Amino acid sequence: MLLSERVDAFFNALIAKTEHQNELLIGKCQSDVRLTSTQEHILMLLKDGKLTNTDLAKELSISQAAVSKAVKQLVQKNLVASVKDGKDGRVSYLTLTEEGAPIATEHAEHHQSTLQVYETILAQFSEMDQEVIDRFVDELSRKVL
Ligand code: ZN
Ligand code: ZN
Repeated sequence: MLLSERVDAFFNALIAKTEHQNELLIGKCQSDVRLTSTQEHILMLLKDGKLTNTDLAKELSISQAAVSKAVKQLVQKNLVASVKDGKDGRVSYLTLTEEGAPIATEHAEHHQSTLQVYETILAQFSEMDQEVIDRFVDELSRKVL
């Protein structure tokens, strides 16, 4: 198979594998609460402080409607609390609950372990090879993203 065909096959397999997901994480989720990776990612973002629906939509590059749907379940499961702003009652802030905190941490660790997998693979290549890989990712990003 030509390298171009392998790149093509890889990306198509990747898209098929990550359908309905907004991110690629390697390895199994260690949380026993069943959530989507988007919901877990929302918990992780709330670790650093309160955010609005609009903040989350921007941060995740997904629609406000998608955020609302994800957040609604998180509130129902008592993983996130929705608090109305004292000054402007139209604005609600989302905060992480005590129950949500361990999942937020687990998700952050899953991101870390995913990065470690990439680092382990890259460490198998010489510095020069890594420069080539860097250029390849750069060129591809310019064309595709
Ligand atoms: Zn997880
Ligand atoms: Zn995530």
